[in-house]
Amino acid sequence: MSIVVQKYGGSSVADAAGIKRVAQRIVNTRKAGHDVVVVVSAMGDTTDELRDLAEQVSPLPPPRELDMLLTAGERMSMALVAMAIAQLGHKAQSFTGSQAGVITDSAHGRAKIIDITPGRIEQALADGAIAIVAGFQGVSQDTKDVTTLGRGASDTTAVALAAALGAEVCEIYSDVDGVFTADPRIVPAARKLERISAEEMLEMAASGAKILHLRCVEYARRYQMPIHVRSSFSQKEGTWIIPDAQAGAQSMEQPIIAGVAHDRSQAKITVVGVPDKVGEAARIFETLAAAGANIDMVVQNVSAAATALTDISFTLPRADGQAAMAALARIQDTVGFDRLLFDDQVGKVSLVGAGMRSHPGITAKFFSALANAGVNIGMISTSEIRISVIVDEVQVDEAVRATHTAFDLDATEVEAVVYGGTGR
Ligand code: ASP
Ligand code: MG
Repeated sequence: MSIVVQKYGGSSVADAAGIKRVAQRIVNTRKAGHDVVVVVSAMGDTTDELRDLAEQVSPLPPPRELDMLLTAGERMSMALVAMAIAQLGHKAQSFTGSQAGVITDSAHGRAKIIDITPGRIEQALADGAIAIVAGFQGVSQDTKDVTTLGRGASDTTAVALAAALGAEVCEIYSDVDGVFTADPRIVPAARKLERISAEEMLEMAASGAKILHLRCVEYARRYQMPIHVRSSFSQKEGTWIIPDAQAGAQSMEQPIIAGVAHDRSQAKITVVGVPDKVGEAARIFETLAAAGANIDMVVQNVSAAATALTDISFTLPRADGQAAMAALARIQDTVGFDRLLFDDQVGKVSLVGAGMRSHPGITAKFFSALANAGVNIGMISTSEIRISVIVDEVQVDEAVRATHTAFDLDATEVEAVVYGGTGR
C-alpha cells in the first residue's frame, strides 16, 4: 500500500469541530486505500499562548523548559485527532516527536533533524492503524531532552517523515487553497499556482512567502519528495511542488515568473566610513556571525577616491538587530569606521521565476514597475532565479501589487479564499 503523509496546520485543527472535520478527511484517505501518517500542529494560536504564558512566569525562560512547554501544544492536537478517528470506527495511535523517532541536535528552539527512525510508525501502519505524529518537535541525540524545531516547523516534520517512510506524497493542509502568485491578503487578484518547481518554491519561502516552512522545502528538494499544498476547508486541488528533475522536463510550459514574495521581518544596518583595506569586511562579518546574526543582502559601495572610505550595508532579521548593533559597536575602534545606522522600517520584495534565466529584460521591467508606482529601491540582490529589492516598509504592499500587475499575474476573477486562521 502506498503511504500518504498529511500535515494539518493550526487553523485546520483549531477547535473540536475542526478536529472532527480533519479526522473525516483522514479516514477518507485511508478508505481510498492508502496507509496514512498524519502530522499535526498545535490548535489555533496555542503555541503563541503558551509562549505568552511562559513570559508571564519568567522573562527569559530556560530554553529546555520552554521546549517542554511548547511541545505540549502538538500533543494536545495529536491525541484529540486520534480520538476523533477512533470515534469514526478506525484505528489510530498518536506519537510524540520523540516516539516517532525524530532525532535532533540539542539546539533548543531551533533544533535540526539529524535522523528519523520511524520504527514505531511503521509498526502502527503494519497493525492497520493510522499514525498521528506531533509536529515541530523531536528528541536530542546527546541530551535526550525534548526539542522544538523552530516556529512553523511542523511542515518540516511532515516532509522529513514522508522521506524517511518513502511516502508517495506529502500533503500540507492549511487554510488557503495552495501557493499563490502573491499573498492574497495584499493582492486579491493573486492566482493559485497549479505547480511550482521546488527550486522556485525554495526562493519564494526564503523571500518571505509563509505558506511553507523554508526547511521543509529544502528537505523536499533533497529527497525529491513531491508536496501537495492544499486547503483542509475545501476539496479543491491545491499546488504541487514538483521535484526539480521533473520540473525541468516540463520547463517548456513553465511560466517565466512564479510569483512575487515579500518580507517585513528584516532590518538594515549600514556601517559608515569603513577604511577600504584588506580584511575589514571579514572582521565585520565574523563579528556578526559570532553574534548569531543571520545576514541576508550585502552591499559595499566603491570607496570614494579622496577618503578611501566605503559604506557597507546589509540586511538581517529584525530580531537579530540589537545584538548585531551591539557587537559592531564593540569593534568600532579596531575597524575604525565612522558610525552605524539602523533602519527597521524596511521591507523586501522579491520576484521569483526559473524562466528569468533565459528571458532578458525581467530586471528592467521589475524596476520600471516600481518606478511607475513611485517606489524607491534601497538595495538590490539577485540569484539566478530571483531579484529582490529593499524598499520603505510602508511601500511594500504597493510594490508587490505593481509588480504583480506588470508581469500579468493578476487573475480576472478573485480565486483566493482565506478560510480560517487569525494570521497571528
Ligand atoms: N505550532 C508550531 C508553531 O506555531 C509549529 C507549527 O505550527 O508548524 O510554530
Ligand atoms: Mg505553519
